[in-house]
Amino acid sequence: MDGSQETTQSPQVAYRLLPAVEVLLAAPQAAQACAELGREVVREHCRALLDDWRARIRDGLGARELALELEQGALAGDLQLRLARERGAGLRPAINATGVVLHTGLGRAPVHPEAAQAMAEVAGSFATAELDRWTGERNQRDARLAQLVRRATGAEAAICVNNCAAAVLLAINTFAHGREALLSRGEMVEIGGSFRMPDVMQKAGAKLVEVGTTNRTRLADYQNALTPETGLILKVHTSNYRVQGFTESTSNAQLAELGRESGLPVVYDLGSGLVDYAGARPLDMLGDEVDVPVALAEGVDAVLFSGDKLFGAPQAGFCAGRSAAIEAMRKNPLYRALRLDKVAIAGLERTLELALAGRADELPVRAMLAAEPAQLKARARELAAALDSDSLLVDVVPAESQPGSGAAPCVFLPTSAVAVTWRGHSAEQLARALRANDPPIFVRIHEGRVLLDPRTLLPGNAQAISAAFARL
Ligand SMILES: *Cc1c(COP(=O)(O)O)cnc(C)c1O
Repeated sequence: MDGSQETTQSPQVAYRLLPAVEVLLAAPQAAQACAELGREVVREHCRALLDDWRARIRDGLGARELALELEQGALAGDLQLRLARERGAGLRPAINATGVVLHTGLGRAPVHPEAAQAMAEVAGSFATAELDRWTGERNQRDARLAQLVRRATGAEAAICVNNCAAAVLLAINTFAHGREALLSRGEMVEIGGSFRMPDVMQKAGAKLVEVGTTNRTRLADYQNALTPETGLILKVHTSNYRVQGFTESTSNAQLAELGRESGLPVVYDLGSGLVDYAGARPLDMLGDEVDVPVALAEGVDAVLFSGDKLFGAPQAGFCAGRSAAIEAMRKNPLYRALRLDKVAIAGLERTLELALAGRADELPVRAMLAAEPAQLKARARELAAALDSDSLLVDVVPAESQPGSGAAPCVFLPTSAVAVTWRGHSAEQLARALRANDPPIFVRIHEGRVLLDPRTLLPGNAQAISAAFARL
């Protein structure tokens, strides 16, 4: 190697080939991005981009190779990619082709189009959030919603908060702050996102008293654990797993009776808010999934459940039950910190109004769960035909969908999926390309192929998927 070559390949020469941030910013595409995203945001990307390229020089990228890459427009290409990611970042509509109906990563229940419209309308407007239009007086923001929950579940009263986790926190804090709360060892669950019962108890200011064993907890275990300090008997639906074999648990009815005898509130954290509305197609495919009215009829003081699971509405947490218990929760100052916003309330009210008017079968979650295998097969065939191209191997295969979000964890629903192989690419590469589509498409990978399950597709999704494949 002679001296002059060493000089032209030295890092200092390479560093000098990189443009200044201001030069990058002045390029036409960057100028357009500045108008769209803000100059400081684009500058941040230019800086980070140049940092990446300097790191490549530090790692041995020579001036000649660099010059070649710059000539080929690699730097501009990288900037375009960064700006495209910036434009496509954050929360946006996505296509769920995974077959998992309540997919927490994909925002759980999509709401009914009329509920979505109600939400959009109040978002951009003033709304009757806490004023009664007939009297002009101040009222409770969830008064109407609570009335609808009462009608749907048969509960005496209801209170609505941000999610079921908030409902659990509010219930424990209301009844067992500075006191003891009984919970079976078999129900010492983590509900995902590090929401662990023992931790929640502590944060709610209650002392957790573990009752029974992991697999068996009898009524006598609860009776023996009662002390003058007991404030609450909590039962938690073990929604995301099952204990099988030599098991025994105490029923809600038994606990409700114990609660009455000992003067203690019994709260049931049900999680999934299944309601069998009059005239609606029953969701038998969910097996023994407990529905809210049945749980209430067993006599517990309050049942807690989510809005965006089987209930099919926006994110929310409901406490439905006896008036005294609900009033106590309403008086808790913590309620103010956990209350719902007007947009969610509008969507929840509209969802319940539809369901109570006999239109529950139209709720997207219920329609997806109830979809017939024959109908799914026809939809899979139609999608497969639309995808047909030389670069793809497309097949319709039997597969299984899942309710998801801890609802009926052992239930698998028979479906037909479109199995796709992209010639010359791995299933992971195809999945990545589909996620980069606008809107992003999420799929399942099974035995080296991408599976698209029609069960979880909403109207218009199939066309968007064919368009995405055509652009590959
Ligand atoms: C899902 C679930 C929760 C948490 O509900 P979020 O609405 O997500 O806060 C609490 N308890 C049970 C039993 C659940 O299944």
